[in-house]
Amino acid sequence: MVDARGVHKYYGSNEVIKGIDLTVRTGEVTCLLGPSGSGKSTFLRCINHLEKINAGSISVDGELVGYRQHNGRLHELRDAEIADRRSQIGMVFQQFNLFPHMTVLENLVEAPVQVRREKAKDAAERGRDLLARVGLAEKADAYPRSLSGGQQQRVAIARALNMRPKLMLFDEPTSALDPELVGEVLDVMRGLADDGMTMIVVTHEIGFAREVADTVTFMDGGVVVESGPPEQVLDDPQRQRTRSFLAKVL
Ligand code: ATP
Ligand code: MG
Repeated sequence: MVDARGVHKYYGSNEVIKGIDLTVRTGEVTCLLGPSGSGKSTFLRCINHLEKINAGSISVDGELVGYRQHNGRLHELRDAEIADRRSQIGMVFQQFNLFPHMTVLENLVEAPVQVRREKAKDAAERGRDLLARVGLAEKADAYPRSLSGGQQQRVAIARALNMRPKLMLFDEPTSALDPELVGEVLDVMRGLADDGMTMIVVTHEIGFAREVADTVTFMDGGVVVESGPPEQVLDDPQRQRTRSFLAKVL
């Protein structure tokens, strides 16, 4: 589903992604771990073309992110085509970023109608099902400010799912939450993984990674230091940098 090869990314002269390879198969969950500044968020943003890469390639579901191949040559996509491809990738951030002036259900209906030109009725019907799935059926008409952080983040997940994405990217989705609200969001993510959603999750929740991830990838300084099944990377890391990071977060 996701195939990144030799990805490099610079901000000015600062190289923050220094040759990353990453493969995520359909239906699998990859957890990305690494210290602050290691390039985790930047890499996620490259996957849905919020950032342009300087070298290498990333493809999602067989399509190159940001480019189209024609007669053996790469052509950059137009903004509308990029927006269309990006709409197939759901992204959930640390800050929930719900539209404050819209109800919960309106938040879920907005993008399918505006971006996909779906009928509001269809988007709302699916939206209600998704709200039930994240345990918030009764909050459809509430405004975001009346919800707890955990509830808002579950709405943000349902909103992303209402675009029927092929892939979900999560960037530290529980880091802004009070500790007692973390579990309800991780439960929703666990359910998604069980249902076969392909996911890349940047997280410091080692327990979640151990239980849910198919692959754990540890990044530092813009490179992948170590990657493999959770029991290998988390319980028997081969590299000193991985060991010292885990000693700090565990
Ligand atoms: P954290 O755990 O703190 O979220 P991260 O692993 O997500 O860290 P990134 O946010 O990807 O790290 O940042 C990687 C590097 O890129 C850092 O040195 C950061 O300062 C730099 N960087 C990130 N975004 C930009 C930007 N828009 N312009 C310039 N430099 C940036
Ligand atoms: Mg980050």
